[in-house]
Amino acid sequence: MIKTSYVSKTIAELKPSGIRRFFDLAANLEGVVSLGVGEPDFVTSWAVREAAINSLEEGYTSYTANAGLFELRSEISWYMEKQFHVSYRPDDQIIVTVGASQALDIALRTILNPGEEVIVVEPCFVAYAPLVTMAGGIPVTVQTSKEEDFKLTPQQLEAAITPKTKAVLICSPNNPTGTQLGQEELVMLADIVKKHDLLVISDEIYAELAYDEEFTSFAAVDGMLERTIVINGFSKGFAMTGWRLGFVCAPKEISEAMLKLHQYAMMCAPTVAQHAALEALKNGMQDVEEMRRSYRRRRNYIVKSFNEMGLDCHNPGGAFYAFPSIERTGMTSMEFAEKLLTEELVAVVPGDVFGESGEGHIRCSYASSMEQLQEALRRMERFMKNHCQ
Ligand code: PMP
Repeated sequence: MIKTSYVSKTIAELKPSGIRRFFDLAANLEGVVSLGVGEPDFVTSWAVREAAINSLEEGYTSYTANAGLFELRSEISWYMEKQFHVSYRPDDQIIVTVGASQALDIALRTILNPGEEVIVVEPCFVAYAPLVTMAGGIPVTVQTSKEEDFKLTPQQLEAAITPKTKAVLICSPNNPTGTQLGQEELVMLADIVKKHDLLVISDEIYAELAYDEEFTSFAAVDGMLERTIVINGFSKGFAMTGWRLGFVCAPKEISEAMLKLHQYAMMCAPTVAQHAALEALKNGMQDVEEMRRSYRRRRNYIVKSFNEMGLDCHNPGGAFYAFPSIERTGMTSMEFAEKLLTEELVAVVPGDVFGESGEGHIRCSYASSMEQLQEALRRMERFMKNHCQ
């Protein structure tokens, strides 16, 4: 009889994603209106799909260069310059990856020695801490608060730094809070990062979905280009989640090291998706603008509705999530989400899955049709009347 587990200790000890567990619950019910999923409700624009079809018709079915098609990297370089005012050479500073997910993974595995710490700002995307752990590092979580608009303060950052700190992982606009960091806030954080000689991994996957203020890339802040790894991709702004295409831009030393890992672990991102992404960057910005306008309208509607029904909701500057407080119901976020699902068939994500400070909140994605949103909000209003007079 074999007693040893075949699964490594690190992986055995990882907790499965709280989001998945919740959606398994929702999947067993009929008539659920979901504000749960974190992906656009738009289908990728036709021109982009057609570019993919054409690439197959022309027989582009082989690997590309490890770092991705040079033409795509050149277009990304141009896009980063034009959109965010940061310069990256296509030859040795940009890698096309399998989603922002793989970009995060190779960034962390490239920079971390065993036991080094990465500051993870919560509430945040559920993959961050596990990715740090899987890269042999130690995630050090910092809790932001509703009172600070879920923004990391310079004092909090400074207090979390130890001699083992290697990097800070920051996401703006944020999943799940929608909070966007402004230029001045980035400058203040950058001062501390520079003082302690740290790196920033800046997850800018929602950069195209900024509604009130112009988006500032962390790499565009003075002195930060050489110490920032920018994570971005096509999933959110370009409505291309299923194509699995992202990219990472970094200083040459880091980028060349990441490429070694990428070439052994992944070889290259899917060729057909790279052709689609090329079209998206060349001719798809108008579509991005239209989607942004549509999300903005929905953001305004959902935030107003939540506040009117007594769910205190800060105004999220970007992404497509509202993160209202459910504290006045006296329920935990898990109780609220489970009750809302069973009583009213509305799926939202309990805030605690995004970290300790997510407790007391629920994440509601407004990347749903207006009809779905209206129906969900009607049901939620009834739920609130039943549970909170
Ligand atoms: N970062 C954040 C903050 C996200 O919300 C997501 C997707 N939910 C990702 C990265 C992963 O994106 P991709 O589909 O490009 O892998």
